[in-house]
Amino acid sequence: MSKRAVVIGSGFGGLSIAVRLQARGMQVTLLEKREKVGGRAYQFKEKGYTFDMGPSLITAPDIIESVFRAAGKKREDYFPIIPLDPYYRIYFHDKTYIDYNGDTEQMKSQMAKFNKQDAANYERFMKDIKPIHETVIEEGFGAKPFNTMGSMVSFVPRVVKLGAYWPVHTFVKKYFKDFRHRFMFSFHPLFIGGNPFAIPSIYLMIPYLEKEGGVWFSPGGMYTFVEALEKVFKELGGEIHTSCPATKIGVENGKVTGVEAGGQFFDADIVVSNADTAWTYKNLVAAEHRKRWTDKKLEKLSYTMSCYLLYIGVKKKYPGLKHHTLILSERYKELVKDIFKNKVVPDDFSMYLHIPTATDPSMAPEGGESMYVLIPVANLRAGIDWEEFEPKFTDKVIDFLEDWGLDDLREHIEVQRVFTPNNFKKELFAYVGNAFGIEPKLSQTAYFRPHNRSEDIEGLYLVGASTHPGAGVPGVLLSAETTEHCIVEDLGTALAPTGT
Ligand SMILES: Cc1cc2nc3c(=O)[nH]c(=O)nc-3n(C[C@H](O)[C@H](O)[C@H](O)COP(=O)(O)OP(=O)(O)OC[C@H]3O[C@@H](n4cnc5c(N)ncnc54)[C@H](O)[C@@H]3O)c2cc1C
Repeated sequence: MSKRAVVIGSGFGGLSIAVRLQARGMQVTLLEKREKVGGRAYQFKEKGYTFDMGPSLITAPDIIESVFRAAGKKREDYFPIIPLDPYYRIYFHDKTYIDYNGDTEQMKSQMAKFNKQDAANYERFMKDIKPIHETVIEEGFGAKPFNTMGSMVSFVPRVVKLGAYWPVHTFVKKYFKDFRHRFMFSFHPLFIGGNPFAIPSIYLMIPYLEKEGGVWFSPGGMYTFVEALEKVFKELGGEIHTSCPATKIGVENGKVTGVEAGGQFFDADIVVSNADTAWTYKNLVAAEHRKRWTDKKLEKLSYTMSCYLLYIGVKKKYPGLKHHTLILSERYKELVKDIFKNKVVPDDFSMYLHIPTATDPSMAPEGGESMYVLIPVANLRAGIDWEEFEPKFTDKVIDFLEDWGLDDLREHIEVQRVFTPNNFKKELFAYVGNAFGIEPKLSQTAYFRPHNRSEDIEGLYLVGASTHPGAGVPGVLLSAETTEHCIVEDLGTALAPTGT
């Protein structure tokens, strides 16, 4: 009889571990509390407009392809991806901009307009961050379980040798003087909820990963990737229950027995939780079974910032906008401090605009744009009453966009929805409304993150943004590989070989 696994949650981490285990001959049941699979990569459609609600940039196609390979499939048979150029346009407060991409000559010539020496240092910077990328991706530290202190032995000397323990911004400013360049090569950690002024430079693998692997888009949006994984899983014989929130992980004699969800009990040999780690331990595992992850310890962890998201369907074209656009405030360090430390929503926000209709016009009715505005904000520990705050804030954001150059925006809006830290908590069960899980910082990296194999309960595993290696689509896909390694170690010959 094949071994039974229950996966709780269908974000990219949950879907990929479900695919990987089903491909290894396990009988996998995937439980999702929401109406559709996808987690933070949810999608909604209204009045002909299509909105991806979360991730929008596809990076590291090799990592994506490895999930399909594990199932003996090919990514291109399920969804297409097309390269984007520029990766993003970054507007600075003085209305200067840089079209950021992976082309060395184009980057250098744009940078030379602001600082010639910075432009000359570009290649040295990329050369110096290459070994960081090699360590995390090519040598496999990103997909290696860090379940014991001993597992850090080979990792720590590498980090020290590369100087990758310095905060990202400290590392970057050694190469670049102009404020634009310092921002451009240090902001990437914000994409995964990290503070560029605190997060170790190991996360500088992201700009390298983008340069080498490109930034991609799938026509129809990121959700085509979600649907592709759902399809592969079903083809392999996996079972999905949506609108089926898990309410309890059964534990007997320190070992999992299954999951209670939607009024049923799903027996299991192993359980993998893709739900928020803090939420999983606090709400699904009775306190008597948790020696390490007590409520007190979970409360002591730091959780990432949250996001304010405004989705708008606009009956007007804004042809000047690039698919990925950043509009920045004059402040950088202080603004980050307001979000991470002071926990206030400043008046001079920086924002990211996602305009998929710039590449795929079919995501809106003819003559319209589908877009979202993302503004990083403090998580719910800030104590902001978003019910009260949101309508005024939304007005302010729309005013800002009109002043910035999106003429007559308000009067052309046909669809409008917001997603605030409250929604992260309510819809996704994200602890304190975090957008990216447990904060990536040195004291919460690798061995110091909640492990992929539960420290408390035999047969329980974690996958996704709050375990190793961390958030971001490539990160959570690697976390599924890491978790698979742990399960294979534990179940050994009971599992079939993978499709690779
Ligand atoms: C606004 C935004 C933009 C982003 N942009 C990018 C980007 O451009 N590129 C990139 O690489 N990354 C991006 N990220 C990060 C990336 O989206 C996430 O790190 C990743 O998608 C998280 O996946 P996950 O596997 O951790 O699970 P999640 O997506 O967090 O899914 C967890 C799932 O578990 C379900 N669940 C929770 N509790 C239960 C329960 N009790 N029972 C059943 N189900 C439950 C939830 O409903 C959810 O579906 C972005 C994130 C956000 C928020």
